[in-house]
Amino acid sequence: MKLVSFGGDRVGLIDNDRKDVVDITPLLGEAPHFPPMNMVRAIANFPEVIEGLQRSRGSLNVHALDAVELEAPISWPNKFVAFPANYQDHIEEMSSRNRSTVNGFFLKANSSIIGPQSQITLPMLPGYEVHHECELAVIIGQGGRHISPESALDHVFGYTCLVDVTVRGSQERVMRKSYDTFAPLGPWITTKDEVPDADALDLQLSVNGEVRQRANTRDLLLNVPSMISLVSSVSTLYPGDVIATGTPAGVGPLREGDTVSIRIESVGSMSLQVRQGDGGSNLAFERATSVV
Ligand code: MN
Repeated sequence: MKLVSFGGDRVGLIDNDRKDVVDITPLLGEAPHFPPMNMVRAIANFPEVIEGLQRSRGSLNVHALDAVELEAPISWPNKFVAFPANYQDHIEEMSSRNRSTVNGFFLKANSSIIGPQSQITLPMLPGYEVHHECELAVIIGQGGRHISPESALDHVFGYTCLVDVTVRGSQERVMRKSYDTFAPLGPWITTKDEVPDADALDLQLSVNGEVRQRANTRDLLLNVPSMISLVSSVSTLYPGDVIATGTPAGVGPLREGDTVSIRIESVGSMSLQVRQGDGGSNLAFERATSVV
């Protein structure tokens, strides 16, 4: 099953061999327009939503998938967790002393999330490079705290694609990774029943048709259950939380006019345009020596 957000925080199920979107928003009950949390509500109440779907399928609106405006499948999670240095080949290409097994996780601002039909906007930071990172993102279903690796997959709702966009530099990682538009998610959430083994997925990222990153999640230093367990040892996980699993080698700069495409086996694919913005510098970038 694949779920999309579209048309102003509406939630849809993709049906009919990916041709149609069934609008299940009416099954979620009344909600304010802000914040846009309908997908979080759908995930938190998924058994009831499916029951409602079976009861009232005939009364729900259906749209052609290519006629709806896709938004980020999750735009307002409780938290957006991310793992640094989680593939050995990326650690080596960055000559990094970090690794996920030693450093744990960080957070990325929710407001950096955009959908598959939006554009990545580069901040104006002369002397700095803005890189793409190709990542599998895990979407939490059932929340919890102190989750064991053995039971961690019971807490997964599904998976989506993430381009973790990052300014290279010595500033705080959260700031370098939290610019608006720096977290394209999509094109949909693929539920876990359609992903036989999240720890054995091919993933790849290309820029203007040239493959820059190609890997398999079996090479993650911390695998998906270990990441869920680690995060939940610190923070309660909630339905809809996003865990970015880290990037393999091949990261590189994005420039105005680029098209960046990500594809993950059994999950999905999307392509985004890159544009140059005219703001975004601050004294931290102006004072520091760039590290690219
Ligand atoms: Mn990353």
